[in-house]
Amino acid sequence: MALIVQKFGGTSVGSIEKIQNAANRVIEEAERGNQVVVVVSAMGKTTDELVSMAKEISAAPSKREMDMLLSTGEQVTISYLTMALLAKGYDAVSYTGWQAGISTEAVHSNARISDIETARVKAALEAGKIVVVAGFQGVDADGEITTLGRGGSDTTAVALASALHADRCDIYTDVTGVYTTDPRYIKGARKLLSVSYDEMLELANLGAGVLHPRAVEFAKNYQIQLEVRSSMEQEKGTIIEEEASMEQNLIVRGIAFEDRITRVTIFGLSGNIGTLSTIFTTLAKNRINVDIIIQSMTDTDSINLTFSIKSNDVEEALNVLEKNKNNLPFDRVETESGLSKVSIVGSGMVSNPGVAAEMFECMAQNGIVIKMVSTSEIKVSTVVDQKDMVKAVEALHEAFRLDEPAQVKA
Ligand code: ASP
Ligand code: MG
Repeated sequence: MALIVQKFGGTSVGSIEKIQNAANRVIEEAERGNQVVVVVSAMGKTTDELVSMAKEISAAPSKREMDMLLSTGEQVTISYLTMALLAKGYDAVSYTGWQAGISTEAVHSNARISDIETARVKAALEAGKIVVVAGFQGVDADGEITTLGRGGSDTTAVALASALHADRCDIYTDVTGVYTTDPRYIKGARKLLSVSYDEMLELANLGAGVLHPRAVEFAKNYQIQLEVRSSMEQEKGTIIEEEASMEQNLIVRGIAFEDRITRVTIFGLSGNIGTLSTIFTTLAKNRINVDIIIQSMTDTDSINLTFSIKSNDVEEALNVLEKNKNNLPFDRVETESGLSKVSIVGSGMVSNPGVAAEMFECMAQNGIVIKMVSTSEIKVSTVVDQKDMVKAVEALHEAFRLDEPAQVKA
């Protein structure tokens, strides 16, 4: 008998009909003689709707009350799904995060799981029940309800799989797996048979919304193999594991892209030793996430600093800089909006020099101007004009042969 954790995302439980369908997927697993723990998200767009109603009351609602509110979304789903299982003649029980023993740090709206006390879930499984757990929520040491950040139900599922030593963790969603790039924009996008944790982590952080980055981190740390698959179709999904074992050794595994990026350049900062730390500490304190950073010395003593941020954060960033002009004197700030980030990701880059060069050459041949670059061991990101984004992804997808049919590794 195996222990399986299944997770169903919002669209996979978006209506009573979908919940019935999810219940059938759970039952298939139970009928194979397995113990099943099911983690669910809030139905459809529930979380978004709750957020927008709260915003009607206050522009910056209390974070504690937001957690209180948003945790209700998942609670609705666990009860419906459990009722559906019971109605189909299967013994089942639903638990909120705290009932399932999920403790988190004391941070509202973006808490990390610190511990899972599995006794209650285990006892229910031993008693032959299917256990249905609310994703995305936990409780801190003071008994306050916390949530794990948007998309956090994935993390609940992986953390439970790890704590329970599950044999498998299946992530059911509205797509059939992880693709080489977003199939909604790029015709040639192909479903990957497998992808490594590191590649998935880069792709998730670069905006591939299919998995919560923290869930991938967790899976890597505890070596939990994940499968991302469709809740509506029976076909095999994508396996996420230490090394992509089923894919041929292409150097680039996937291409991620994201629009609404703005470049900010600060001219004439003092070249003092503490300047960078002051600027980025100030921005971080104001919760502005900076991505690519480029510093250049001028021939005088001053420096120019360029960084990219999400376009939503521009106003706030400019305010923060202006307010702190006394402790970090600068001449002027320039911004350029309407930019996008296009990134190639693949573990094979570690041992293959010249991948960045190949990327730049492909973009040059397609007349695409690159405005910023950043690299890690297994990715190269470029910032380009928004109008060039899809063209760049298409060209790179072909140049790195991602559109060719999958070949299973020999
Ligand atoms: N319901 C939460 C959200 O929409 C958590 C999740 O779905 O994973 O972000
Ligand atoms: Mg999700």
